[in-house]
Amino acid sequence: MIEKNNLSFENTEIAFRHSSNFDLKRAYWLFRVINVNFLVKIGPPITNFAVKIGLPIKGLIKATIFKHFCGGETIAECDKTIKNLHNGGVGTILDYSIEGEDDEHVFDNTRDEIIRTIERAAVDKAVPITVFKVTGVGRFSLLEKLDEKAQLSIMEQEEWEKVQARVMAICQKAHETGIPVMIDAEESWIQETIDMLALDMMHLYNTQKAIVYNTYQLYRHDKLASIKNDHAIAVKGEFILGAKLVRGAYMEKERKRAEEKGYPSPIQPDKQSADKDYDASLDFCTDHIDTLAFVAGTHNEESCRVLAELLDKKKIDHKNPHVYFSQLLGMSDNLSFNLANAQYNVAKYVPYGPIKAVLPYLFRRAQENTAIAGQMSRELSLIVKEVRRRKLVK
Ligand SMILES: Cc1cc2nc3c(=O)[nH]c(=O)nc-3n(C[C@H](O)[C@H](O)[C@H](O)COP(=O)(O)OP(=O)(O)OC[C@H]3O[C@@H](n4cnc5c(N)ncnc54)[C@H](O)[C@@H]3O)c2cc1C
Repeated sequence: MIEKNNLSFENTEIAFRHSSNFDLKRAYWLFRVINVNFLVKIGPPITNFAVKIGLPIKGLIKATIFKHFCGGETIAECDKTIKNLHNGGVGTILDYSIEGEDDEHVFDNTRDEIIRTIERAAVDKAVPITVFKVTGVGRFSLLEKLDEKAQLSIMEQEEWEKVQARVMAICQKAHETGIPVMIDAEESWIQETIDMLALDMMHLYNTQKAIVYNTYQLYRHDKLASIKNDHAIAVKGEFILGAKLVRGAYMEKERKRAEEKGYPSPIQPDKQSADKDYDASLDFCTDHIDTLAFVAGTHNEESCRVLAELLDKKKIDHKNPHVYFSQLLGMSDNLSFNLANAQYNVAKYVPYGPIKAVLPYLFRRAQENTAIAGQMSRELSLIVKEVRRRKLVK
């Protein structure tokens, strides 16, 4: 039986303390629009079209949805957000959000930009962890070929060596500066390659401290077993396992592909099974806190409560550097700021990058926050509660 503590996620005063009345009103109107299913459906194609033909809508996007979910277009533009979060006891994870690029120069630039986020973290305690995606520094279809164990051509082999060198350069910088770097999880048909790369990096750089973290998607039925297996490898190899725990972001895509290609879906049969494995992974990680460092990347209130209670039950200090809670900027501030207020380690992803490049990310956030069965989304209902408390609207 898990011990109960007094943690509350209902306090919207703490959750939105860092938001001015203006910020809150903007968020209120933004989420009212996002809550309308129809607008979220027609929004992305209209926006993409408008950007493509050069309509001057960048300013509008930047002042609204971009401002809510992103820190800025550059690291320097994220300064205000970093300070704001820090004032509420929440760290920043700078997330350079370029998506869908396929060019060697872009991959080199992305590597350099990730290294700049690590350099920033090295001189700013408000930025405690960093992150990147392997598809930000390497071609998706190359990773796919590697996952299939297909024969690479000589050119592809050279290309793969470059991808590994980029990943190595990032992890090497993280090691030099002592700043943890997380590797995001992606689609299952490239994940084995990412997992192998991540484990190799941990072997190299995690002997003294958890520097490299891989991501485990617990919506997959095999990932609780992977954490346990990787932990056994880490113990044997005398390094610390770094693990980011998430449920997983590609469920529909995964199921569709499995059906189309006629293989069993890697996704759990239902949400309860994903929830059960997620919470079991929290239990496993807290049981091995000396040899495993982890970040719980979740907006699920119950999982945050379970973890907070496990820490108290197992007498793990709230500030133990081996455990972090993490949410995305502009979402679940009730969790982030109330956890930070109770002295737990918390850091939020702060996505940044050129507006055009982060549009797919913004569309996903909008889709996630539409009304479910005609009800207000959770995010909107929290904003409404705070807006009413401050008497900003009736
Ligand atoms: C800090 C942070 C980092 C993240 N990094 C990554 C990453 O690297 N890779 C990645 O893939 N995702 C990542 N995510 C997204 C994450 O995987 C989830 O999609 C998202 O957080 C929603 O899950 P939840 O735990 O917050 O809560 P909930 O809202 O409780 O769970 C929703 C999730 O449950 C799962 N689910 C829903 N229905 C079913 C079903 N019928 N069967 C099985 N599973 C179901 C899905 O994963 C869905 O996204 C990250 C999220 C955060 C907050």
